[in-house]
Amino acid sequence: MKTIKVSIVTPNGPVYESDVEMVITKAQSGELGILPGHIPMVAPLAVGAVRLKHAGSKQEDLVAVSGGILEVRPEQVTILAQAAEKAEDIDVERAQKAKERAEQRMREQKAEDIDFRRAELALQRAINRLTVTGKQ
Ligand code: ATP
Repeated sequence: MKTIKVSIVTPNGPVYESDVEMVITKAQSGELGILPGHIPMVAPLAVGAVRLKHAGSKQEDLVAVSGGILEVRPEQVTILAQAAEKAEDIDVERAQKAKERAEQRMREQKAEDIDFRRAELALQRAINRLTVTGKQ
């Protein structure tokens, strides 16, 4: 069965590297499934989960990605992310606290304020992390 190489890289270094059957990402334009041999493309990513399906098994890895750039070549997918964590590396308590902080800030700010938008993005990151761990 054909596979495609995947690297997820952040400013702090590589987070995930594997050969997989399929990569599912959340681009800003919507969900995107990538199989080996995909045409070359570059797309901005939203805050979301990256799902990595392994060949010949139902096993799937999950990585929480906080936005970035997706680059696809026929044999390689590269994700340059602002931040990314494998499901097993996510600190649930930290994400829960970040979620509560963001919700509190959103209650204190007006919807048009820059700080409201910042809190909204922080909330998206926290919810994404909790979703990836299955704790949300
Ligand atoms: P916090 O307010 O908890 O720092 P944040 O969304 O502001 O959350 P980021 O700026 O996205 O955090 O990330 C900063 C660094 O911390 C990154 O390296 C990211 O991978 C890591 N990180 C953030 N939250 C978690 C978490 N819940 N578990 C593990 N690593 C995390």
